[in-house]
Amino acid sequence: MSHIAVVGAGYVGMTTAACLADLGNEVCVIDIDQEKIRLLRRHRLHFYEPGLQEVMERNARAGRLQFTTSYGDAIPGAEIAFIAVATPEGEGGEANLNYVEQAAATIAGNLTGPIIVVNKSTVPIGTGDVVSQVIQRHNTYFPVEVVSNPEFLREGSALRDFMEPDRVVIGAHNREAAEQVAKLYEPLNASILIYNIYTAEMVKYASNAFLATRISFINEIARICERVDADAKLVGEGMGLDRRIGSQFLEAGIGYGGSCFPKDVKALAAIAEQYEYHPELLNAVMDINRDQRRLAVEKLRECLGTLRDQIVGLFGLSFKPNTDDMREAPSLEIARELLKRGATVRAYDPAAIEKAKTLLPGVEYRRNAYAVARGADAVVLVTEWNEFRHLDLAKLKRVMRRPVLVDGRNIYDPGQMRGLGFVYRGIGRN
Ligand code: NAD
Repeated sequence: MSHIAVVGAGYVGMTTAACLADLGNEVCVIDIDQEKIRLLRRHRLHFYEPGLQEVMERNARAGRLQFTTSYGDAIPGAEIAFIAVATPEGEGGEANLNYVEQAAATIAGNLTGPIIVVNKSTVPIGTGDVVSQVIQRHNTYFPVEVVSNPEFLREGSALRDFMEPDRVVIGAHNREAAEQVAKLYEPLNASILIYNIYTAEMVKYASNAFLATRISFINEIARICERVDADAKLVGEGMGLDRRIGSQFLEAGIGYGGSCFPKDVKALAAIAEQYEYHPELLNAVMDINRDQRRLAVEKLRECLGTLRDQIVGLFGLSFKPNTDDMREAPSLEIARELLKRGATVRAYDPAAIEKAKTLLPGVEYRRNAYAVARGADAVVLVTEWNEFRHLDLAKLKRVMRRPVLVDGRNIYDPGQMRGLGFVYRGIGRN
C-alpha cells in the first residue's frame, strides 16, 4: 500500500486515482477547480466515463479515495504524486506546459519529506527535466525524483485500459524511483517497460501519432475508393485481417478528434521543427484530417444544393462514442459551418448535450434521433454510438422532409439505405 496524491481530477487523473485506490492504495486527488471537488466530495463524477462513478464511489466510501483543493492536505505524507493535468495546444501548436509547471511548483512548495513526482500528462520530450528544475527552484531541502509514466487509456474504456494495459511505460533517470512506481502496477500482471525518461515520453507521442496516421491513411484510401468505385469500409476490413496490419484504426470517416490526437500530432510536429527536422508525414496526417473533417458539409451541399434554410440533424456530438468529451469533436466544426451557411441545426447525443450546449449555443437540442430527424432535410451521422446502429430506418425516413443521410462513420449499409429510399452518402463508398 502506498500513499499517493493525484493532481488533476480529469479523465486521466480520476481514472488513475480510482484504480490505484481500488488496488488498495490511499489516494488523495487535488484539483484547483472547486466545483469539481465539491461534486466529487458528494461522490458525484463531473464527466461521463462508463463504470468510473461506481469505482470512485466504492473507494471513496471505503475511505481510500479523498478529494481536496489544497495541496497542503494531499502532498505531506504522500510517497508518490502523479501529475495528470491538461497539456492543451499552445499558440504555435506546441504543448502548453503551464498547468504542469504550476502543479510541479505547488507540489514542491508543500513538501514535508522526499517524494517521487510522476508525470502522467502527455508532455514534450525533455519535460521531465523541466519539472525537476521547477521543483528545485521551489524546494532544495527534500530529495525529489521525477518519473515519466505516460497514460494510454481511451475515454469510453478507461477503467479496463488502466486495469488491463497492453503495457505500462515508465521512464526515469533514477532506476530505483522507476521501480518504486512500477510496484504500483505489479498487481495488474502487465508488461512493465522501464526506459530512459526521454524514450518513455516519446513512446506516448509516437503511439498517438501512429494511430492518427492509420486514420489519415485509410481516409486517403477512402478518397481514392470513391473515385474508383471501391468500398473503403470493406477495404479496411480486408486489410485488417492481415495479421501484419491488424484491424484497429482502419475505419474511414470524418476524421479524428478528441483531446489527444489533434494536439499530440501537432505537438510532435512542433518538437521536430524545434529540432530543425521537417516532419513531412506528420504534416500530411494533419492535412488529410483537416480536409476529411470538411467532407460532411461538402456532401450535404452536393445533396441539398444550398444549405441556406435547410434543416440538418446531427446524430451524435461527442468526439467518439461512450464519452461526453467534446474537445476537438468533428461535430463542432460541422455544426458551426452549417450555421454559418444559414442552415438550422438540430442535434441529439446520448451523453454530450450538456457540454455541447455551451459550445454550440445556436444548435437546437432534441431528446432522441427521431426527434432530430422529424422534418429535417438531411441527417449526418457524426458519432457512431451503438443506439444509432439499431434505429428503425424506415421510420426515420418517414419522419424526414427529405431523406438525405450522410453517414460520417459508415455504420449503415448503402444498399439497404437506398432500398429504403434514402439518398445515402458514406465515406469512401458510393
Ligand atoms: P482534463 O482536462 O480532463 O483534466 C485536467 C484537470 O487538471 C482539470 O480538472 C483541471 O482543473 C486540473 N488542473 C489544471 N491545473 C491544475 C493544477 N495546477 N493543480 C490541480 N489541478 C489542476 O485532462 P485529461 O483529459 O485528464 O488529460 C490530462 C493529461 O493526460 C493530458 O496531458 C492528456 O493529453 C493526457 N491524456 C489524456 C487522455 C484522455 O483520453 N483524456 C489519455 C491519455 C493521456
